Amino acid sequence: MPESAIHPIDLVLRKRDGHELSTQEIQHFVQSVVENGVQKTAAQRGGSVLAERSDSVMSDAQIGSFLMAVFQRGLSPRELADLTSAMRFSGETFDASALQTFTVDKHSTGGVGDKSSLLIAPVLAAAGLENNPSISVPMISGRSLGHTGGTLDKLETIPGFNTQLSLKRMADVLRECHATLVGQTPHLVPADRILYAMRDHTGTVESPFLITASIMSKKLAEDLRALVLDVKVGSGAFMPSYEQSKFLAGLMVSTGELAGTRTVALLTSMDEPLGRFSGNWVEVWECVDIMKGTRHPMSADLIELSNALSGWMLYLANKSSSPEAGANLADEILRSGEAYDAWLKIVRAQDGDVSIFDNPAAFHKPRATRVLKAAQSGYLAGMDCKQVGWAVQRLGAGRTSPGDPVSAHAGIESHAKLGAKLAKGQPVFTLFSENEKLLDEPYRMLEATLSIAETPSPKMPLVREIVRHS
Ligand code: URA
Repeated sequence: MPESAIHPIDLVLRKRDGHELSTQEIQHFVQSVVENGVQKTAAQRGGSVLAERSDSVMSDAQIGSFLMAVFQRGLSPRELADLTSAMRFSGETFDASALQTFTVDKHSTGGVGDKSSLLIAPVLAAAGLENNPSISVPMISGRSLGHTGGTLDKLETIPGFNTQLSLKRMADVLRECHATLVGQTPHLVPADRILYAMRDHTGTVESPFLITASIMSKKLAEDLRALVLDVKVGSGAFMPSYEQSKFLAGLMVSTGELAGTRTVALLTSMDEPLGRFSGNWVEVWECVDIMKGTRHPMSADLIELSNALSGWMLYLANKSSSPEAGANLADEILRSGEAYDAWLKIVRAQDGDVSIFDNPAAFHKPRATRVLKAAQSGYLAGMDCKQVGWAVQRLGAGRTSPGDPVSAHAGIESHAKLGAKLAKGQPVFTLFSENEKLLDEPYRMLEATLSIAETPSPKMPLVREIVRHS
């Protein structure tokens, strides 16, 4: 179809009715999404949108409908490759060639209490320093999405921390620190920035095709040599079954390999919140404690996951003989304090105030707290982890409209892991919020989702399976 003949409504109708879109149509969709964002920014700045509005730009309603059509119909492999590529090149991309470094990164499909990026980036940065070529982690992350938390929202609780760096500053921080933690911007993968927020509000998050395009467009825009994906399975995962999570892992691995990036996915359990805390600042606090050498027993699963993912990254970067040796090296770096030094350096380089880490507990100032106690004695047998994630978001850690601020202090502390023996009245969760009124609904959600049994049930391993290109 000639470019001039593409109208936004035709794209929606054709996808809705199950037709395969051409490369040109998909590129047109992505350009139109970016143009929609440009017009909104102009409107916010007081520009005359009406005068400039073109019929080829999709409205919010049309973008939402298109996303729902993709959610229902899926994408062919060619459509998925085209969407990922169009999103990747929707703005500037990072070029690592001048740095003469091995670029490697990780990304998770989203979880509850999943803060492993905050440990992995400094571990890899510390591991990269003494190597030739060095390792660098140019990490582009996202905000909270659906029931899951977002790395950017957590980082932005650090006073001054800037996640919106230009490409030049990204390169400067990488040269100095070997890792940088940034977000999509109006210039860097802008299409994902817009679609990510739209999906959150149109019930279209849980599409394996949209998740793949979102994650892989960001990761491929980083000019990566290797990528390790943490694909969640279980009740807190976006995908409703193990097989669907595995399908998602396969889509992402083949998309990465096709683009020339060595890509491995770990299928990992998300049946309960990872670590001790879920929220924003509380997750930074937990990671700072770990990097300073405190190993709270509730953080054991988080440390295990971070080491497993770091281990694969070190292995793919040829810095360890096996993923297991890499995991041991990662653990040593965490224990030695080198990761903490690297973390301080990254935070300073991105304008963050590191004095806050002197006493992270003191910065946590929720105005309202409530403790959920075990209603009976027995073994903690299960929970719907997605409900736990929604409870965290509704305490104030997530947003109800795109661009809303999130609370730094909202969240939960987990006091027991699945399989733990509980006495009646023993605390299971402490809820935190900035507003007493926001406690009731999440409290009821958490209360309803917990199940306590008389006998312990077998626990799933954290890393369930590795998916690699055959
Ligand atoms: N993380 C992303 O960046 N995108 C998604 O769609 C899900 C998780």
